[in-house]
Amino acid sequence: MTNLYKDNSTPTCIICKTKPFNGHDSGLLIRSRLICSTCETRIIQTPVDDQYYLNFKEQLKALWDGC
Ligand SMILES: [Zn+2]
Repeated sequence: MTNLYKDNSTPTCIICKTKPFNGHDSGLLIRSRLICSTCETRIIQTPVDDQYYLNFKEQLKALWDGC
């Protein structure tokens, strides 16, 4: 199923490092970085003191700092 990867412009999710099947449509785009809908949902459901949330915050900080 190499078809999944033919579109190289589909960004990789900055959290789980995968490319969502529906490209831009299935996630949040922040400064051309993608957070896939799976991670988005997890973040919304994750308590703020959870390690997953802290990791997400670090990724976001790197986004803002890297511009
Ligand atoms: Zn993701």
